[in-house]
Amino acid sequence: MAGTPAPFTAADYRARMDRAAGAAADAGLAGLLVAPGPDLVHLTGYRPPAVTERLTLLVLAAGQEPVLVVPTLEAPDAERAAGARGLTLRDWTDGTDPYHLTAPLLDGDGRFGISDNAWAMHLLGLQKELPGISFVSLTDALPMLRAVKDEHELVRLEAAGAAADGVYERILKVRFCGRKETDVAADLAALLLESGHSQVDFTLVGSGPNGADPHHEAGDRVIANGDMVVLDFGGLMHGYGSDISRTVHVGDPDPEERRVHDVVRQAQQAAFESVKPGIACQEVDRVARAAITEAGYGDRFIHRTGHGIGVTTHEPPYMVEGEERPLVPGMCFSIEPGVYLPGRFGVRIEDIVTVTEQGGRRFNTAARELALVE
Ligand code: ZN
Ligand code: ZN
Ligand code: ZN
Repeated sequence: MAGTPAPFTAADYRARMDRAAGAAADAGLAGLLVAPGPDLVHLTGYRPPAVTERLTLLVLAAGQEPVLVVPTLEAPDAERAAGARGLTLRDWTDGTDPYHLTAPLLDGDGRFGISDNAWAMHLLGLQKELPGISFVSLTDALPMLRAVKDEHELVRLEAAGAAADGVYERILKVRFCGRKETDVAADLAALLLESGHSQVDFTLVGSGPNGADPHHEAGDRVIANGDMVVLDFGGLMHGYGSDISRTVHVGDPDPEERRVHDVVRQAQQAAFESVKPGIACQEVDRVARAAITEAGYGDRFIHRTGHGIGVTTHEPPYMVEGEERPLVPGMCFSIEPGVYLPGRFGVRIEDIVTVTEQGGRRFNTAARELALVE
C-alpha cells in the first residue's frame, strides 16, 4: 500500500476557493456562503470540532478576499487548517451579533449560494440583516463544485478503494454460516480501520431475504448455508471515501442465484465500459438498466446506478435518469446496479470509477465473480 499522501497546502485550498468563487460568478451569484460540512472541508480543510449554534461561515465572492467568520473561541483551531492560513479571519465573541458582523461582507442586493446544510437559524439571521439579498442552495446552484477531482484527490480515492478491496478479500476468509449479520458487519468495520480508514461510514450485510432490501443495514438474522449475502461497506481514508459492494454465497449457489449474479455483473461491466468524457450521466444508468431489463429483471432494479464520492461517500454527480450533465475527466462515482427479489435474495456489485480521457478507470478491482464463503 502506498504511504500517506502529502497534506494539501494552503495554495491547494486557495486554488479551490478561487475556482469556487469563479464558478459562482459564472452562475450569476454574488458569492458563496459555506457552512461547516463537506464544502468547507473541501475548500479550507477546516472541520470545526463540533458544529454548534455559534456561526461559522466562509464568505467567498469573486474579486474579494475570502473571509472566514468564526467564534472567537474557535479561531485558534480554525487557523490551524491549511486553507484558513492566509485567510482573513473575522471572529466574533459571545454576546455580540455574528450576523451584524457578517452583513458588511456581503454585497447588499445580490444572490448568494449557501451550503445545503447551513442551519436555518443562521440563514434567518442573515436574511434579517440583509433583506435585499436572496439565497439559493449551493448544491442547486453549483452541483458540480466538488465533482471533478484533482490528481491529489484521485490518489486518495484510489488508495481508499484499494484498502476497501483488501477488506473484501479478507472478509471472504471469515466464517459467515451460523453467525449474525451484525457479527460480519463488526468484522468489516474492524478490517476497514485496520486497512487505514480513519472512519467507518457503513457496513451493510444483507443475508438471504434481507439482501432484497437495498437499505437493509445488518441485523440479528443468523446467516445460513445457501444464503446469498450482499456486502456494502466504506468510510473515509486520508479524508476521502471508499464504497464497495460485492455479493457472496454461503456454500453452493443454485442456478438462479448464479444467473442473477451474472446479470448484475454484466450490467456493471457494460455500464463501466460506457464511461467516457462527454456522455450524459444518465447514459451510465441507462446502459446498466438495459442489460438488467433485457435479462427480465428490469422491475427489480429499484435504485439509481450510482453517486459521486469525494470528501463524502454520497454526492453529485448522480448516475440517474434525468441527469443530463456530461461526464468530465476527474469525476469519481459508483457504478452499483442490483437486482432485488423480495422474500428471496438480492445482488449488488459496486465499484468506484473515475473518468479519464480514455474512458473509465476502476478504483475497486477486487474480483467481481460470485465468491463462495463458508
Ligand atoms: Zn443459495
Ligand atoms: Zn455502497
Ligand atoms: Zn454506493
